Amino acid sequence: MINRRRWLYGLGMAFGAAIPTGTAASAQAAGQDAAAQQDTRYNRLALTDYEPRSMLQVSHTRVEKSRFPLIDIHTHISVSTRSDRGIELAAERQYLGTPNELLQVMDRKNIRAMVNLTGGFDNGLHDAVTKYDKAFPGRFYSFAEPSYSKFKQPDYPRVQADAIAQGHRDGARGLKIRKTLGLYLRENITSGTLVKIDDPRFDPMWDACAQLHMPVAIHVSDPLAFFTPTDRFNERYEELNNHPDWSFHGHDFPSNADLLEARNRVMARHPKAQFIVLHVGNFSEDLANVSQNLDRFPNMTVDTAARVGELGRQPRTARKFFDKYQDRILFGTDATPHGDEFPQQVFNDELYEIYYRFLETDDEYFDYAPAKVPPQGRWRIYGIELPEPILRKVYYDNAARLLGINI
Ligand SMILES: [Zn+2]
Repeated sequence: MINRRRWLYGLGMAFGAAIPTGTAASAQAAGQDAAAQQDTRYNRLALTDYEPRSMLQVSHTRVEKSRFPLIDIHTHISVSTRSDRGIELAAERQYLGTPNELLQVMDRKNIRAMVNLTGGFDNGLHDAVTKYDKAFPGRFYSFAEPSYSKFKQPDYPRVQADAIAQGHRDGARGLKIRKTLGLYLRENITSGTLVKIDDPRFDPMWDACAQLHMPVAIHVSDPLAFFTPTDRFNERYEELNNHPDWSFHGHDFPSNADLLEARNRVMARHPKAQFIVLHVGNFSEDLANVSQNLDRFPNMTVDTAARVGELGRQPRTARKFFDKYQDRILFGTDATPHGDEFPQQVFNDELYEIYYRFLETDDEYFDYAPAKVPPQGRWRIYGIELPEPILRKVYYDNAARLLGINI
């Protein structure tokens, strides 16, 4: 069904994607539709077909290589071969790119190391470390993940802490927590009530990470717009329309604020564990909030992954944020080899050039993802032209310090 909205006619186009509306609203829209059809002043164009090209004549700086070698703290080279509703069930890994294929891009783009956050658990983790980290020392680092499929075991807290220690012995450099915790994991794993991020059953796991100096890369919640209705007011309408399962509006989902507070309680309770709070502290829409948390929690750092679009649309605020927290921001992209479905995180030359352009130049109004239509929302970004000492820290030093790599 296609609803056309009169308010868009002023732009010479019609809204061609389906928007859920009530019966009365539909009837009203149908009335407007009929009126508009008789009105020949307006061309018809579905929103999905709209690809405006900027006529703005401004400088375009191509940054083929980063100014300094870098560590990409946030990539996904492997995934579990079997998962259900966000829970990885099989230890066996599926690899999304071969080391040689990845190394070619890495060498072209000045990427010294990629951190594969989704290294998995048990034998799968061992396998990932063997195939990448150990085969190409200094180029790949793997993080472990919790085995939620064991969550029902009565001794799960101890089993999980022991698995972290085993992962450390196998070569894992940190622990990755996906948004699964807080949004998917339930008491009966895939059913029942949602398990809270600060559930005490995970305390031994956080403690193990602190003892073993394994940083915890934690993804909590998601963009704020994913918690609001997928309607015409939603700034990520097209993204949610393409991926309806990314909406956490309604059902029994906690609010964004509840999720972030639960995460904060974990950081407060485990001051010796280092938390890399991914995606700019998972609240890049509100850098004041992220700043407050960085001030409150000395054990917190953030990465930039998949949020260049958010940072770049608030360049002045972002620049101040990088100035102030230059020792606590890590370069990350969320790059996924062959992840063409998500242009904002597909591992290729173009993606890295966008990040470099944002960090290193003062270019204006450019695309934040290699895509015909901006995939996360219809806006463009501006560079923040960081000075060299900050670039060095963000590209390499901050991550190297957390991972225990020599600078
Ligand atoms: Zn990610």
